[in-house]
Amino acid sequence: MNIALIAHDKKKDDLIKFVVAYKHIFKEHSLFATGTTGLRLIEATGLEIHRFQSGPLGGDQEIGAMIANNRMDAIFFFRDPLTVQPHEPDVSALVRLCDVYSIPLASNMGTAELVAKGIEKGDLDWRKVSGNKGADDNGTS
Ligand code: PGA
Repeated sequence: MNIALIAHDKKKDDLIKFVVAYKHIFKEHSLFATGTTGLRLIEATGLEIHRFQSGPLGGDQEIGAMIANNRMDAIFFFRDPLTVQPHEPDVSALVRLCDVYSIPLASNMGTAELVAKGIEKGDLDWRKVSGNKGADDNGTS
């Protein structure tokens, strides 16, 4: 599956801890991230991750484009609800596209644990047989 990892600045440490804890799951999939989140995750985990632009410079929109093209299967987006983001419209647009296309979106640690365990169990494998071109696509990272 194609999985996106994004965290606002004050949530990056949480996402790194989370990905380290579930590395055995994430390493089985094609990973994508916004620029700074991706860099931090690569440094901390050694995982192969395709990095897009930084979020405020368009990275959220690049991940949104993958959703619109049916090439994204799940998003872990640890949002900071207490800090105003300069790219709030992009954040809203990404969340909206997840709802348009029924893409699982984990926006906090609690949901993230459930989604990660679901991925591990194969609960999201229906995406592989629902015509999602990105489900087994390793060619883009
Ligand atoms: P970043 O972007 O990973 O480049 O910090 C995340 C975001 O704020 O959307």
